[in-house]
Amino acid sequence: MTCVVTCPSCRRDVVWNEMSPHRPFCCKRCQLIDLGGWANEEKHIIRNGAVVRK
Ligand SMILES: [Zn+2]
Repeated sequence: MTCVVTCPSCRRDVVWNEMSPHRPFCCKRCQLIDLGGWANEEKHIIRNGAVVRK
């Protein structure tokens, strides 16, 4: 059974297994982009992938 999630940064499909070490992000670049968003407090990514804007 394959679980697929959506990358919070670029909305690409990410297969949830050992092949995707940066899940839920598709790649390290998207992970860093998201961390930058947290630092700027422009947006908040909740664990389930929902985006909440202040
Ligand atoms: Zn991505």
